[in-house]
Amino acid sequence: MKIAFIGLGNMGGGMAANLVKAGHQVNAFDLSPDALAKAKVNGCDVFTDAKQAVMGMDAVVTMLPNGKIVEAVYSNDVMNHAPTSALLLDCSTIDVDTARRVNAAAKKAGYNMVDAPVSGGIAAANGGTLTFMVGGTKTAFTRAEPILAAMGKAVIHAGESGAGQAAKICNNMLLGASMIATCETFKLAEKLGLDLQTFYDISSKASGQNWSMTSYCPVPNVGPQSPADNDYAGGFATALMLKDLRLAMEAAQSAGADVPMGARAAQIYEAFDAAGSGDLDFSAIINNL
Ligand code: NAD
Repeated sequence: MKIAFIGLGNMGGGMAANLVKAGHQVNAFDLSPDALAKAKVNGCDVFTDAKQAVMGMDAVVTMLPNGKIVEAVYSNDVMNHAPTSALLLDCSTIDVDTARRVNAAAKKAGYNMVDAPVSGGIAAANGGTLTFMVGGTKTAFTRAEPILAAMGKAVIHAGESGAGQAAKICNNMLLGASMIATCETFKLAEKLGLDLQTFYDISSKASGQNWSMTSYCPVPNVGPQSPADNDYAGGFATALMLKDLRLAMEAAQSAGADVPMGARAAQIYEAFDAAGSGDLDFSAIINNL
């Protein structure tokens, strides 16, 4: 297939490279010359004009920083320039309302479009092991599935347009709150004189067990290898967790949902980020509780 890829940063760079490896012809566009230089090394054809990059393509994939940029790129550079036969796939993490608006505009202009945000970080993007949560019609999902499968290990249809973004932020709100709860629990266990490995051995087999504890333990040298064992470098940055929590708060307000635990998690990560810890893995919050 001929696929245009817009936004080849930390995540998009590896994703586009995996499309090339799967045998697709990939036209790359990014505002950053560095990102384009890397894309060229990875076998993409590089463009300095997005409109040229999408012309005549079978699909357009975007992996961009936020909803405002996604909306501008689709309305200025993609729609009316890519053929209406092209499938549009936005893999960025953005707010649900913008995702629905962009999808509706695409539909009106004659395109099939999906929102397909990802779970998994840079290593999963490079390794082709992302999980995609997809919002869109059954027809659009069926068309999107083989393209996304070349970049991930799981592709799940979440529902209609915007459902991918909704699933992503609901999952990450739960992750943020459960990480904080796990961290404060280990802190309390320590203050109560428990050995942390022993507490892990008990709780990981008892009803407190959760992913933040048993797959991503925030305590160094306890549980499987995690960013805690690497001074909280790498992993999922606090700034990105905060971005997703803010999106969750916007969505909760828009939907009239009461989310006190999610709101508290957003406040706690807001303060941690403001204190200069935005680049640290989100499990580093344990050192701030
Ligand atoms: P990034 O900042 O590394 O990459 C974004 C790229 O978009 C940059 O190369 C930038 O130059 C480019 N860009 C910005 N505006 C553009 C425009 N108008 N036209 C073309 N290119 C433009 O960000 P990232 O870490 O790759 O994240 C991308 C998306 O993936 C975000 O929505 C993020 O929330 C989501 N995400 C990131 C991670 C992660 O671990 N980094 C994990 C899951 C989801």
